[in-house]
Amino acid sequence: TDLTPLTAEQTYELDRRHVFHSWSAQAQITPMVVTKAEGSYVWDQDDNRLLDFTSQLVYTNLGHQHPRIVAAIQEQAATLCTVAPQHANATRSEAARLIASHTPDGLDKVFFTNGGADANEHAVRMARLHTGRPKVLTTYRSYHGGTQLAINMTGDQRRWANDAASSGAVHFFGPFAYRSPFHSSSVEEEGERALAHLEQTILFEGPDTFAAVVLESIPGTAGVLVPPPGYLRGVRELCDKYGILLVADEVMAGFGRAGRWFAVEHDGVVPDLLTFAKGVNSGYVPLGGVAISPHVAATFDDRAYPGGLTYSGHPLACAAAVATIRAMEDDRVVEHAAALGDEVFGPRLQDLADRDPWVGEARGVGAFWAVELVADKATREPLAAYPGSSPQMAAVVAACKKRGLLPLAVVNRIHLVPPLNASASQVHEAVDVLGEALAEARAG
Ligand code: PLP
Repeated sequence: TDLTPLTAEQTYELDRRHVFHSWSAQAQITPMVVTKAEGSYVWDQDDNRLLDFTSQLVYTNLGHQHPRIVAAIQEQAATLCTVAPQHANATRSEAARLIASHTPDGLDKVFFTNGGADANEHAVRMARLHTGRPKVLTTYRSYHGGTQLAINMTGDQRRWANDAASSGAVHFFGPFAYRSPFHSSSVEEEGERALAHLEQTILFEGPDTFAAVVLESIPGTAGVLVPPPGYLRGVRELCDKYGILLVADEVMAGFGRAGRWFAVEHDGVVPDLLTFAKGVNSGYVPLGGVAISPHVAATFDDRAYPGGLTYSGHPLACAAAVATIRAMEDDRVVEHAAALGDEVFGPRLQDLADRDPWVGEARGVGAFWAVELVADKATREPLAAYPGSSPQMAAVVAACKKRGLLPLAVVNRIHLVPPLNASASQVHEAVDVLGEALAEARAG
């Protein structure tokens, strides 16, 4: 074929010469060369096999090189590689039907995008046109994507360099019991105070000015912040009270990651709009989208929706979605992810938190976990203050990799987010390795 076989050295050399990487000071990075991948494993430039508990950027939900997804992409490529969005296409129709069969009640129209950021951009555009209101509410502890509005909706530090006063994004604090912004003393109180704070923010900012509350159902990059039971229901009630739409960002938490098809199901909440990407097709070909409720969809029955993308519903991406969703159904992958959380991650990480002086808290659900590392368990001082700021965090990651585990390090946390079809023994192995790596890093 036309694909040139390169050695790992040539790959690295050309990367550094020509590839401009995301979120990075280009002269300070040393990307790992991935030479092959299979299931829950990747191999690096030195042919070390690593257990991939990053799922890359939390998207290879069925692992690497899943035969059914690869076959569907190949079959689609051999049949019809591409067709413009204005035409109808069998694979796109079937992908939309399958997605709609799993989204919460009534969200049965799908607008396809290329990824998560543009899904959120379009969800907000729909909400603004539907309500006739300009502003959106989002939490500080959030990530919604890298495009202009999405990065301004994002709460984390990556927003700062992109701040646009005109974005209309107003930030508030969501619940986070371990580092409570509300001085609460229980998870229940945290949920109640977080809702009171959101209502105050709405009232002081002007209830009639908000088109939407945009929330990650479980904030992911911010630390897998599973909300207190009832919090999302409370947000739904506030939205209804003030005529604001609820947009659930399920880009990371959705498609089984949280042990349910969508994380909003944990609280029995139906959003007006739901955004997805990543796990919808295990990320094999870029795909995202917005699932739309009937009342929002009706706004655009006889009024053109002013938005679109050249690759909306690309057949290769939709073929990967069809195979991913069918394989998830046939192999009961969502149930498996839920059991991994309840039976393996939960008890094993709680035990680690009880024993290890650096583990302040372990939290999560399904195949979606974060271990919060602290310098001092009493003060809860984080082991790192900002991304890349701590030699101890670097030492933990290096010690994990030395033992064959690829972990996802985010500020002072190790996120454990394997493929949803990882085995229980792989999870046991990862937790064992993390425990040893923490001890080694502490010993210096
Ligand atoms: N929303 C959430 C919750 C995410 O985690 C991400 C990516 O990590 C995005 C949106 C942005 O998705 P994308 O990078 O596909 O634009």
